[in-house]
Amino acid sequence: MIAGCGIPLLLVCWLPAAGQPRKDLCDDEDLSRTSPRHTDWARGGRTRSRRGARRANQVEPDSTQTVRGIAEEIILRLEELDGLGRSPYDQKEYPTEAGALAYSYAIDTEKFKYVVLKLCVEAGVDLLFHTYVCDSIAEQGALRGIVVENKSGRQAVLAQATIDATGDADVAARAGASFWQARGNEAPRLTDGIMYRIQFGQSRPSGVFACDFGRNAVVWGPGLPAIDATNADELSRAETEARLRIYDDFAGKQREHPELTDARVIETPPLLGIRQTRFVEGEYKLTAQDAISGRRFEDVVAISSCPIISYYGYRRYLDHEGYDIPYRCLVPKGIDDLLIAGRCISSEQQPYESHRAMAPIMAIGQAAGAAAALSVESGAHPRGIDVKRLQQLLRSQGAELRLGTGDEG
Ligand SMILES: Cc1cc2nc3c(=O)[nH]c(=O)nc-3n(C[C@H](O)[C@H](O)[C@H](O)COP(=O)(O)OP(=O)(O)OC[C@H]3O[C@@H](n4cnc5c(N)ncnc54)[C@H](O)[C@@H]3O)c2cc1C
Repeated sequence: MIAGCGIPLLLVCWLPAAGQPRKDLCDDEDLSRTSPRHTDWARGGRTRSRRGARRANQVEPDSTQTVRGIAEEIILRLEELDGLGRSPYDQKEYPTEAGALAYSYAIDTEKFKYVVLKLCVEAGVDLLFHTYVCDSIAEQGALRGIVVENKSGRQAVLAQATIDATGDADVAARAGASFWQARGNEAPRLTDGIMYRIQFGQSRPSGVFACDFGRNAVVWGPGLPAIDATNADELSRAETEARLRIYDDFAGKQREHPELTDARVIETPPLLGIRQTRFVEGEYKLTAQDAISGRRFEDVVAISSCPIISYYGYRRYLDHEGYDIPYRCLVPKGIDDLLIAGRCISSEQQPYESHRAMAPIMAIGQAAGAAAALSVESGAHPRGIDVKRLQQLLRSQGAELRLGTGDEG
């Protein structure tokens, strides 16, 4: 069972640069505006614009693709349906062969919903829409299932293995798993924001504008001060504030770009975009050094090559071909039959700011799904599964793990 699968994707990146700093394709335009770190360097007297500062340490990437598997399948299906837009980030256009991916994409969210739903139906997934996890059923150190609320009322859903994909680790927290969370400005952290879609009128800005779909674009909207998005009151207040600021934000964009004079806001997302809340304590916690040194792990199940976007006060590009995400980061300490996927896996802040990007986060999701399936099939607890078999399974599904010939295990 997977608890809390969402569809918030807008921009995905794939390709890191080898052996040199790379340009950033998987980050959030206005992130630094609300980040305490950004305030620091802005005070430090730098005069370049945010965009200028970002470009200054961008160099040409090479063409190593670090995320494949289901994520790649989704992008290729979107391509077939004309469901990909242009990413706003400067990038070299590689002459990709049929079936190969370019450096980064903006994703048509409507077509994305269609593609993932179709993939789920084709794979025989039982779906339960509009269903909220409201409790976890844990006994004797193991998760037996969850309690959900939906149109049918309240139900218990029992499972041999459960994946917490709520982003906020709601299942793990309610099951009593240990987690850490930076609240307010107590530590450097990413803050939240809202994006929205605009429709161009008779004219439009030249070049690529935000996540650009030709006649419309998804733009970064108002950012927010640090909130605790696991607190319903704070979350509601923040979403109210963000929504009420959208038209002022848009008016600002129109002043900056006169070609937007007859453009209009046509869509806002169903939820405020939450960047981080809880991080579950797992059997291993990824460290800053792991990310910066490009550490490889025997139990690799995914790879991140994205930059650390804010922690250091600038975008810290990795000068290697990505670091491994070990399986142990998905396995919570002290509670069996539960796996963690998504932005709340066991990690320090610095590596999280890299692997929380959409491409690696999808690879992590695939790893959690494959591990849960293997656990059910073999009868072993997720923490006890044969990781070599997991890696074989992931590779048979097309995942990229950089494990050489494929003969291992
Ligand atoms: C404003 C913004 C802009 C971003 N821009 C980019 C970008 O340009 N490029 C990039 O690569 N990354 C970007 N990111 C980061 C990226 O989108 C996230 O890190 C990533 O989506 C995290 O995925 P996730 O599945 O772990 O969590 P989420 O995307 O948060 O998904 C969690 C899902 O679980 C559901 N859920 C939560 N609690 C429950 C519950 N109790 N019961 C049932 N369901 C529940 C939620 O509704 C949601 O659908 C951005 C993030 C934000 C907020």
